[in-house]
Amino acid sequence: MDSSLYVKPGENLLRPLHVPQRLLLGPGPANVSPRIQAAASLPMINPLDPVILKIMDDIKQGIRYAFQTQNNLTLAVSGSGHCAMETAIFNVVEKGDVVLIAVKGIWGERAGDIAERIGADVRYVSKPVGEGFTLKEVEKALVEHKPSLFFITHGESSSGVVQPLDGLGDLCHRYNCLLLVDSVASLGGAPIYMDKQGIDILYSGSQKVLNAPPGTAPISFSETASKKIFSRKTKPPSLYVDLKWLANYWGCDGKPRIYHHTGPVTNFFSLREGLAVLAEQGLERSWAVHQENALKLHKGLEALGLKLFVKDPALRLPTVTTVSVPNGYEWRDITTFIMKNHAIEITGGLGPSTGKVLRIGLMGYNSTQANVDRVLEALRDALQHCPKNKM
Ligand code: PMP
Repeated sequence: MDSSLYVKPGENLLRPLHVPQRLLLGPGPANVSPRIQAAASLPMINPLDPVILKIMDDIKQGIRYAFQTQNNLTLAVSGSGHCAMETAIFNVVEKGDVVLIAVKGIWGERAGDIAERIGADVRYVSKPVGEGFTLKEVEKALVEHKPSLFFITHGESSSGVVQPLDGLGDLCHRYNCLLLVDSVASLGGAPIYMDKQGIDILYSGSQKVLNAPPGTAPISFSETASKKIFSRKTKPPSLYVDLKWLANYWGCDGKPRIYHHTGPVTNFFSLREGLAVLAEQGLERSWAVHQENALKLHKGLEALGLKLFVKDPALRLPTVTTVSVPNGYEWRDITTFIMKNHAIEITGGLGPSTGKVLRIGLMGYNSTQANVDRVLEALRDALQHCPKNKM
């Protein structure tokens, strides 16, 4: 029969969907645990149904626990980590504001790009990839630039560095500056205490230690940050992430909820379960497990003759380990071999660490002795079989 449709669906679309099983030991996303996967298959209901509002309250409570904060303005944005980054910067920064960005990998570059796009006066302070900042270095930059916002990444997944945060909040506040911290790759895997450390804005992601699918991102704002947001002179440049709307949607403004956008309720189910798993295990236990397994991985890597990229052991991020690309090998040969022969994902570097490192992630449900053994075995195999250029 003749059809009026000239665009055909294509043969592939009419075949069954196939997704292979892989062990995701890169810097994220991590594997979704069966309990969280099951949550994602629960029935759809309207995002403003009282049942969902109660689940959103559970999520807020879970985020407060994971962040160690009592902040009222605590919620999850409907988007990935980048959406949380934009939510923070779009709402807190106005055109012309001076924003200071700590760059020690790709995430500072991204935050700076976002702030530049909205006309902020963006200043940078940088460290070589693989290093962190000292309080002295930050203080010098605060004195020089007098910013109203300072951005720094806690778990720098591109370099494998965990940035010490103690003292940063007090320091920023002494210079009349808000502290914004990215914990997408570290939350639940390395200690962070939002209130005690004086962090004004903290955000994370769902797909790393929380083992939920990507697509929601926890975020929280201190009293001071909230005051700044709600007394700004101009509207934020995005309606989607405008906190006046989001505060209402997440029940933070005490007013009846009104429709803003259609929340990704399926992802809320998964995020709720990811936060519940963390609460059941206990934050301190989760930090300890990540640290123990990271140390086992470090030992095993060194036993294979590999060199850890982050020299200072105190700065090694427990969730994402970086190892220098071994001499004579192409990093891509190694990652491709491991995927093809072991169905394990590890990755090369990102941004300034590209070509320098291999990155191995052990996050949440994936942080186990068995996975340490599997990835070490896969690496040993790759070093034996990948071409080695004898220079
Ligand atoms: N910050 C850090 C430290 C990250 O590791 C990532 C994700 N790799 C992001 C931000 C961005 O998150 P997303 O990919 O979920 O947008």
